[in-house]
Amino acid sequence: MEYIKSKIRDVVDFPTKGIVFKDLTTVFKDPRALHIIGWDLSQLYRDKGVTKVVGIESRGFIGGSILAYEIGAGFVPARKPGKLPADTIRQEYAKEYGTDVIEIHRDAITSDDIVVLHDDVLATGGTMAAAYKLVKSLNPKKIYINFIIELSALNGRAALPEDADVSSLIVY
Ligand code: AMP
Repeated sequence: MEYIKSKIRDVVDFPTKGIVFKDLTTVFKDPRALHIIGWDLSQLYRDKGVTKVVGIESRGFIGGSILAYEIGAGFVPARKPGKLPADTIRQEYAKEYGTDVIEIHRDAITSDDIVVLHDDVLATGGTMAAAYKLVKSLNPKKIYINFIIELSALNGRAALPEDADVSSLIVY
């Protein structure tokens, strides 16, 4: 874990002043760090019968795909509005300024699925809370929530359902 931590790049004042952006491109470009991420994520979910990993656009696509591949699950993208070609369901959520929308294909998850929702970073939790509602509405057997990094000072867990099964590889 210390090796991964050493590869995370803090970018100050990105995308706006006052934000310290946790840049994972410096982790993903490093073959050893990428391998460790895949291994560590998969160890969390290997024996849980997971059938689908839902990755949140766009940085959640990277770790989500690796996790899905490692544990033999399918991968489902949760995307910004208007990007998915077939029949979708959508969930609106509040952002710092205004609202945003997240969508998935209506047939992406069934009631037989055990799902891991994955994003790279948990900040305020608004994005993941919306993704959770969306997936929950498709009535899977179980939903796990996963992040590579959790920024605990922002208390994003409070935005997630109380009974949610949440794990993060690295907590700051
Ligand atoms: P949230 O506030 O939890 O809804 O986060 C919104 C999205 O922005 C998530 O997909 C995070 O990956 C990303 N994000 C928010 N804050 C940061 C940060 N400090 N560093 C990197 N990514 C961030």
